[in-house]
Amino acid sequence: MTTTKTPVGIRAQGLTKRYGDKVAVDDLSFTAEPGVITGFLGPNGAGKSTTMRMLLGLVKPTRGTITIGGRHIAELDEPARTVGALLDARALHPRRTAFDHLLAMAQTAGLGRKRVGEVLDLVGLADAATRRAGEFSLGMHQRLGIAAALLGDPAVLVFDEPLNGLDPEGIRWARTLMRELATEGRTILFSSHLMSEMELTADNLVVVGRGRLVAESTLEDFVRANTTQAVTVSSPALDDLARALTRAGITFERTAVPSLLVTGAEPGMVGKIAAAEGIPLDELTRVRESLEDIFLRLTHDVIEYESHAA
Ligand code: ADP
Repeated sequence: MTTTKTPVGIRAQGLTKRYGDKVAVDDLSFTAEPGVITGFLGPNGAGKSTTMRMLLGLVKPTRGTITIGGRHIAELDEPARTVGALLDARALHPRRTAFDHLLAMAQTAGLGRKRVGEVLDLVGLADAATRRAGEFSLGMHQRLGIAAALLGDPAVLVFDEPLNGLDPEGIRWARTLMRELATEGRTILFSSHLMSEMELTADNLVVVGRGRLVAESTLEDFVRANTTQAVTVSSPALDDLARALTRAGITFERTAVPSLLVTGAEPGMVGKIAAAEGIPLDELTRVRESLEDIFLRLTHDVIEYESHAA
C-alpha cells in the first residue's frame, strides 16, 4: 500500500434520522478530510453508527445528506474501491473460514482472489486464514473486519469502534495502520465512545451527543478551547493568600483540602502575588482537565439540555 490516493472526503449536511419519536441523528453537519484521521466521538447511543450506516447507504436519512467525494454512495461507479467499512465485526458467518469470508466479499465486489491473501497479511491473520470465523476472539474479528474494509484498497475508510476487543498490542497495531492509511491520503473516519482512545489516534474530532454536533475541530484546538486552566495553591497562611488574590482581582474557590483552586491566573502570577506579600507556599500546581473530563462535560451538557427540553 504505497499508492497515494486521489483525495475523497466525507461530508454530512443537515443529516437527520428519526426512528418513530426517537431522533437518532439530529441535523448533523461535519466533514472528514483526506489525509487525516477523523475521530467520531460520542457516548453510546449518540448516533455514530446510524451516521455511518447512512454514509454507507444502509439506512436512509429522514433529512439531509451524507456524501463521499460529493456523491451519495449509490452514485459511486466503484463503491468497493472507494469506501470500505468495519461496522459490526461479529456480523459474519461463523462456519466460514476467514479466507472464504473475504473471498465471498471480494467476489461480490468484483475483486480478485489475490487481494484476499494481501489483506489477511496486512492485518496479521495470514496464519488464521483457514480457521472458522466462529472460533475467532473479538480482537480477531476486528482484524478480519478491517481486512474486509481494505479489500477494495479504498480511498475512504469507515471504522465503527475498531479498537473494541483489541488487546494493547492490537490497539497499537490498529493505530499505526490507521496512521499509515491516512498518510497515503485516505480519509479515515473512526468512531469511539472513549476519549482516551481518540486522544492518541485522531487528528480531527467530530464530537456528538444525542445525535447532535457538540464540537468539530482539530484535537489540539478542541483541547485548547475546552480545557479550563486552573492552579491549586496551598499555604500555611491561606487566609492571607486569599485576601491577596482578591485584591489582585483573581478568582478562586476554597477546596476542602484546604487549598485554593485559582482560575484565570497562571502559576507564576499566583507565586508573584504570594512573594510580594511574603506569604509562604506549600504547593503551587497547574491542574488541567483531562480530555475524558472535557468530553463528559460537553456531552453531558447536551444530554442535560435534552432532558430539560423534553
Ligand atoms: P452510537 O453508535 O453512537 O452508539 P447509534 O447510532 O447506534 O449510536 O444509536 C443512536 C440512537 O438511535 C440510540 O438511541 C439507538 O437506540 C437508536 N437506534 C439506532 N438504530 C435504531 C433502529 N434501527 N430502530 C430504533 N432506534 C434505533
